Amino acid sequence: MQLDIKNSYAHDLPELSKECLPFGFQKSEILIKNYELAEELGFSKDFLDSEKCLNIFSGNGLFENSTPISQAYSGHQFGQFNPNLGDGRAILLGEIENLDIQLKGIGQTPFSRRGDGKSALSPVLREYIVSEFMHSAGIPSTRSLLALKTNETVIRETEQSGGILARVAKSHIRIGTFEFAAMQGIGILKKLADYSIRRHYPDLENTNEKYLQFFAEVCKSQTKLVSKWMNIGFVHGVMNTDNVTISGETIDYGPCAFMDNYDPKTVFSSIDVAGRYCYANQPAILVWNLSKLAETLIPLIDDEEQKSIEKLTEVLQQIMPSYEKYYYSAMGKKLGIDPISQNNINLVKSYLQILESNSIDFTLSFRDLAKVFNKTKNIEDSVFANLDDFKRWHEDWKTQIISENTNLKNITRKMDLTNPCYIPRNHIIENVLENAVNGDMSLANEILDLYKDPFSENDNNEFFKNPSKKNVPYVTYCGT
Ligand code: AMP
Ligand code: MG
Repeated sequence: MQLDIKNSYAHDLPELSKECLPFGFQKSEILIKNYELAEELGFSKDFLDSEKCLNIFSGNGLFENSTPISQAYSGHQFGQFNPNLGDGRAILLGEIENLDIQLKGIGQTPFSRRGDGKSALSPVLREYIVSEFMHSAGIPSTRSLLALKTNETVIRETEQSGGILARVAKSHIRIGTFEFAAMQGIGILKKLADYSIRRHYPDLENTNEKYLQFFAEVCKSQTKLVSKWMNIGFVHGVMNTDNVTISGETIDYGPCAFMDNYDPKTVFSSIDVAGRYCYANQPAILVWNLSKLAETLIPLIDDEEQKSIEKLTEVLQQIMPSYEKYYYSAMGKKLGIDPISQNNINLVKSYLQILESNSIDFTLSFRDLAKVFNKTKNIEDSVFANLDDFKRWHEDWKTQIISENTNLKNITRKMDLTNPCYIPRNHIIENVLENAVNGDMSLANEILDLYKDPFSENDNNEFFKNPSKKNVPYVTYCGT
């Protein structure tokens, strides 16, 4: 099989990466293979099942023509600037079909600082499952091609099995990459901006003010992305600028999780004690992060610094209004009220208020609402049982739906197509991972299958649908 692997990043931006050979993990084993994604990339099933594939993805071999690199980047972590981050445990093998093929957890690189360059198996599987779920749910995300178990243990809080994730991304260029390039001078910054435009926003190549337009496009992609997170109840957990892509894909699933009952203050990460990256703060952090990107672009926008700042600020000021537009119109669709009007925005807000004050499960609520509407469930059997505030809201909502639609038949079907029935709930993922690290992959495979279509409800899968009965706050750890 002849693969057309390119190394455009290594070739065009040598100042922003270091060539780096993988360490090589002997006796590794591929635990999950994404045959569908492999096919999109041009990998045959035979290749995926071959010794050569295992060798390459465990760092013991290379694709022909591959120039493996680790990428340099900086980043604002919890608000503090760190100039020297970079791929401390990841190697980019090259690009296929314009997509990055990266190995994460592949051992030390020139950017490892004091780290071991390795990943534990459990977070590798977690990233695999959650990123593939996000993709199926229509949320832009890096994808997962393979998950491997190495024959080594890694020391975290405890000694754990090691793992490697083969990740596929539109690119791994982050806001932090621009922060790093800006420190190297305007020449390199411009090269990175031109490369990013060529790769992600090629329509801008010959436009006026292309760097300003580029900034506006990144703002748009990221704003759409974060609005989708908010619509599905996803908390990323570490929205540092080194974890924010220029392409608008979700990246770096560390301490992320989905909220069960609706609570804007939801935070899962053990290190986020101040709640900087809690659910409700994500849109504000989006703006903060994009303002850091804006700062790096100042020298490219206008000869006069003040004018650059004004132009960039104008774009920044548009983020919140467009976020609200994306967010509320999707929330309206979730409730079957569409298009969005002030009355419908009020219905969304009062609905969320009911969920919050009664600690109702965010995901289940939308599915039950559709069932109440089409009378396949009584209110008293739903998550809204015994809630007078819901009964009042429900009357207003029904009136609105009836006023908007002449045909009421399709409403609930449309609602179900935008409200997932299954999400990677914390207790389920924990269960799956515990089995997997103990050698039983059956639950992991079952759930990966289920998450390929999270909108279709299947009566046999009650366990995967419901929140945990135990009422203990869920905590995720960054030691991934
Ligand atoms: P993350 O929290 O995964 O986004 O990583 C933040 C930074 O720490 C990045 O520069 C990573 O490459 C680096 N890093 C995380 N884990 C390790 C590790 N085990 N060894 C070396 N570097 C790491
Ligand atoms: Mg990261």
